[in-house]
Amino acid sequence: MPHTLTELVAGAVPIVVEETRGYWEGTLEEKLLIQKCNTCGHFQMPWGPCCTRCLSQDLGSQQASGRATVYSFTVVRQAIHPDFSAQVPYVLADVQLEEGPIMTSNVTDIDPEGVSIGMPVRVWFDEELEDAFHVKLRLPKFRPQEMTEA
Ligand SMILES: [Zn+2]
Repeated sequence: MPHTLTELVAGAVPIVVEETRGYWEGTLEEKLLIQKCNTCGHFQMPWGPCCTRCLSQDLGSQQASGRATVYSFTVVRQAIHPDFSAQVPYVLADVQLEEGPIMTSNVTDIDPEGVSIGMPVRVWFDEELEDAFHVKLRLPKFRPQEMTEA
């Protein structure tokens, strides 16, 4: 099925590329994997083709604990793409992982008005999706920490 460029780059499902394949494979096993530079030890999210600190291409990964805090967020009230129409309002957030890197995700399972900076959150993995090239993935999302301790 043909896709428009807008569908590919702005829709709700990311495209898995070679540089991020390991990350998305991790999500299928409910593992949040941080890219780790084998040369200098730098952690980075999102994954890329080289270390953003030393430019090494010798990269591995380490499983994150899944614990994070809300670093910054916004409440999206107007869908910028039809994929998001049923989801508004929703929380688009940068969360800082316990290990240091900041990643963009969603904070779910809470009234958007109840989200605050510094709030402890924990990762969960949404239902399995396929990207435009039929590669399976699950989107890591975050919910308030107290909900996951029950
Ligand atoms: Zn490095």
